[in-house]
Amino acid sequence: SKAKLFDEKTDTRTSFKDVAGLEGAKEEVEEIVEFLKNPDKYTSLGGKIPKGALLVGPPGTGKTLLAKAVAGEAKVPFFSLSGSDFVEMFVGVGASRVRDLFKQAKDKSPAIIFIDEIDAIGRARGKNNFTGSNDERENTLNQLLTEMDGFGTNTNVIVLAATNRADVLDKALMRAGRFDRQIYVDLPDIRERKEIFEVHLRPIKTAETLDLDFLARQTPGFSGADIANVCNEAALIAARKEKKAVTKQDFLDAVDRIVGGLEKKNKIIT
Ligand code: ATP
Repeated sequence: SKAKLFDEKTDTRTSFKDVAGLEGAKEEVEEIVEFLKNPDKYTSLGGKIPKGALLVGPPGTGKTLLAKAVAGEAKVPFFSLSGSDFVEMFVGVGASRVRDLFKQAKDKSPAIIFIDEIDAIGRARGKNNFTGSNDERENTLNQLLTEMDGFGTNTNVIVLAATNRADVLDKALMRAGRFDRQIYVDLPDIRERKEIFEVHLRPIKTAETLDLDFLARQTPGFSGADIANVCNEAALIAARKEKKAVTKQDFLDAVDRIVGGLEKKNKIIT
């Protein structure tokens, strides 16, 4: 159903304050916020505003969050769609969904379109994959390319797409005037993990002043999503024990639990 695919929100709640670390990526998307807010300033000397940018990085590193923050900061509507939604779609449906999405965004422009897991539709054409009908996927990809070429310089719709496999994408997507910018969104280093803890501890009632450097040291290889998970899990562990506030030990137990989950996930992959 439409409701499942189009998550249209004038999302003014997500801002750059919600995105910890990722300084380089934030700097790059700040420019996109400027384009959305002040298109005339940038086109006045004959320049063209970019139509799309690719957010590239491992799962859970904040790509969706960053895209929402761009919409939030620019105060424009956020339209989103996930590549994996197309996996089991009937022939012809994918292309018309893409057409509808772009039409809605243009009607409400300036706007952001966010395509999560673009590799599910944007894999190089003519190569087999095991996710649904290949013809359908190709039709959907072709429609996406058509839409991106179709909108003029004055539409003021910017398309952000996320992937963790930029290498498998059809090169046609990266051509000038399409997703011609790539923004890297990496796993957080120790300093960034500390900042992510700070963000996700905001709503949590803690029993003591937590040593965030210690927590950051305990979580190498964790993504932002994993850290968000740790904070939430710690609060649930403490609540289960009828505690009035969350302790350091609850965080350590939560870390152990998430590590266990990550190990299981890796076993399935390898
Ligand atoms: P995927 O590739 O799996 O879709 P993603 O890169 O889009 O992942 P998000 O969905 O943005 O990741 O991240 C999931 C959640 O993890 C966010 O909603 C947020 O709570 C938390 N998170 C991830 N990265 C950060 C970050 N840099 N700062 C703060 N929170 C983060």
